Amino acid sequence: MARKRIIAGNWKMNKTPEEAKALCADLKDLVVNDNVDVVYCVPAIDITTVAEAVKGTNVHVGAQNFYIEDKGAFTGEISAPMLKEAGVEYIIIGHSERRDIFGENDVLINAKVKKAFASGLKPILCCGESLALRKAGTYKEWIERQIKWDLTDVTADQVKNLVIAYEPIWAIGTGETASADQAQEVCKLIRDLIAKLYDADTAEAVRIQYGGSMNAGNAAELLAKDDIDGGLIGGASLKTDFAQIVNA
Ligand code: PEP
Repeated sequence: MARKRIIAGNWKMNKTPEEAKALCADLKDLVVNDNVDVVYCVPAIDITTVAEAVKGTNVHVGAQNFYIEDKGAFTGEISAPMLKEAGVEYIIIGHSERRDIFGENDVLINAKVKKAFASGLKPILCCGESLALRKAGTYKEWIERQIKWDLTDVTADQVKNLVIAYEPIWAIGTGETASADQAQEVCKLIRDLIAKLYDADTAEAVRIQYGGSMNAGNAAELLAKDDIDGGLIGGASLKTDFAQIVNA
């Protein structure tokens, strides 16, 4: 079974609604590619504007965060039904910035994965090791631990619709990319783990992205690897370089 490539931009806390509209217009004709799922994961305030701007195109709308309750006294939070109604399809969960800056742990991340599926959102579940773990040589155990925690009680049918983003923290926003071989090693490790936790069909179906300073220059080599089905792109998603990654 061929997995469809998925290239997602993580805009992080960038672009006002007007700026978002302008970026969508700049990218509109450049990201047309029937073989690729293109996703813009945008700040909550931009969702309505971006959903309108990409209507009728191959671009899907994603969000970067939500809370696990549907409504209530959770000041500052946004819920899955709110995102769904606004046109969101994909949701980033477990990004290292949410884990490190906002203190999200694997218990909450697991709850978010389950809630996203229950609400009809497709999670892009992020995992990845720090530079210290990479240097210590314990990164494989770390990634396996994260995935096991984050997928507790998640079913095989759900995992078939899951996207996992392997994002070594040392490569995020640093300009330092994992080599294609380093990225492939971990993406294969993740696929093998999914086969062990679930079954071969599920491992074959789950899409695994690499993220970490992916850009127009290095995308083709990374995306050529067997177990890398796409990219999660931060900095380069804010400019027309993103289209070169989509078409790499
Ligand atoms: C990210 O934050 O998900 C990311 C991969 O960022 P960058 O591409 O800027 O390294």
